[in-house]
Amino acid sequence: MKELNLCIDIDGTVTEPYYWLERANRYFDRQLKPEDITAYEIHRMLDVEEGDYSEFYDLYGKLLHRESKARFRASEAIQSLYQKHMIHFVTAREEKMRDTSIEWLARHHMPMDSISLLGSHYKADKAKELNSDLFIEDCYSNALQLSRAGFDVLLIDCTYNKGLLPQNVTRVKNWSEILDIVDRKAKLIKTVS
Ligand SMILES: [Mg+2]
Repeated sequence: MKELNLCIDIDGTVTEPYYWLERANRYFDRQLKPEDITAYEIHRMLDVEEGDYSEFYDLYGKLLHRESKARFRASEAIQSLYQKHMIHFVTAREEKMRDTSIEWLARHHMPMDSISLLGSHYKADKAKELNSDLFIEDCYSNALQLSRAGFDVLLIDCTYNKGLLPQNVTRVKNWSEILDIVDRKAKLIKTVS
């Protein structure tokens, strides 16, 4: 039997976080660099209306997701975690991105037990349904929301998610650190039970 239920966000967590930037810069005639992205709301960073960003995303969303790069060592980490733990991808992407998302994960050799496309940033109910032991995220407000609902979160460090964290949210630098923490947590649960 697998040990832990791991819920894992996709964008910015297993993908490289700034993959949309080059096309967005070109489309909106901006010259933003990764270090300029200090908030999660992309349209605010580009200084455009939310509707204008949605238009851009409707046009290029699938392509952006398809061409995005994986984070360093994310693929190896997911493969290794999958041997012992349940891997549940939980993303705010919409249902229409299902095929694109599954295809990308397969192409980057990231095995999974399930994928949920919520079309919303509210992830606490899904975490409850999946009985999440650890939720891996890059979005600060999602991390706080999950923390308030009682879930342990690993927040992968980015320029747009700085801020104080509650006790059940841990800031991590990379996937190697995530592997170590999951390992420790699994051992701890084994000793307790
Ligand atoms: Mg994300």
